[in-house]
Amino acid sequence: MTLKRAIIDFRFIKDLGFIIIFTLVMSRQSLGNIHYNDEGRDWTGICSTGKSQSPIDIPIKWATESDNLLFLKTSSTLDVMVSQKQMSNLTLKDNIYTYYYAFTGGYLAFWDESNNLDTYQLLQFHVHAPSEHTFNGKHYDVEIHFVHQNTNNNKLVAFGLFFDSRTGGDKENEFITALGVGKSNNTALSEIPALNLLKNLNFKEIFHYEGSLTTPPCSEVVSWILIHDVQPISSAQVKDFNNKWMNNKTFAGGKGNNREVQQLNQRFIYKKDTASMQDQAIIIDGVCFIMLLLFAIYLS
Ligand SMILES: [Zn+2]
Repeated sequence: MTLKRAIIDFRFIKDLGFIIIFTLVMSRQSLGNIHYNDEGRDWTGICSTGKSQSPIDIPIKWATESDNLLFLKTSSTLDVMVSQKQMSNLTLKDNIYTYYYAFTGGYLAFWDESNNLDTYQLLQFHVHAPSEHTFNGKHYDVEIHFVHQNTNNNKLVAFGLFFDSRTGGDKENEFITALGVGKSNNTALSEIPALNLLKNLNFKEIFHYEGSLTTPPCSEVVSWILIHDVQPISSAQVKDFNNKWMNNKTFAGGKGNNREVQQLNQRFIYKKDTASMQDQAIIIDGVCFIMLLLFAIYLS
């Protein structure tokens, strides 16, 4: 996207109406009594009755056997821009069923398939192993969810990244190393090199669909943005996660901390149309200029 287009869109958004800055109380997915003994099948309420649940299977090629292929659409307007501060002074939170990292210095702008722009602030990120979303039915070793909240309302965007030692390469990943896997709860962490991770991502395969939290209460308030650029991770790093969940008989009888994939139920999955793409998504070190401009407009 160009700066000009971004500014025009921001002005348009400003004209849409009043702005409410919500207190960031939703610093993590609501937890309740989460267990993965049955991969989430026995969760109640909207988890069992909802029709827009997450995760789902993503078809990654047009010629694929994914049942969801018929509901895959390309979009020339779908785009995402992320920006953040250096991730320092973080603490490892071990919630038993995930590792969770509170960090609010991240921002995300999201253009959907109708070319609506919304902006979001990072609340936290956390880990699933194996991945929750599948691609043509295949799980990757690790999926990390960066949960953002809309700057105007309660809507969430979960930005999902994937790590796999076969698809991405069996190589130690500095971002994963910095997460302190295996360390005790409340361990202070040194700086997490998230900027390096984001800067090197290929944003050509962006998928978007409307879904839910993947843990109870499974609220259907989440726009999912999945970047299918599978990152390297070493076998040893994968083992560290699996020792915690998938290979830990005391966790969920030897299952991971992933909910099973859900029915699509007539929803569409949108994929960025790279054929008509003019620009790559933009990642900028520090607080992005456009984000500063945007927040200045909102707060004025
Ligand atoms: Zn998650």
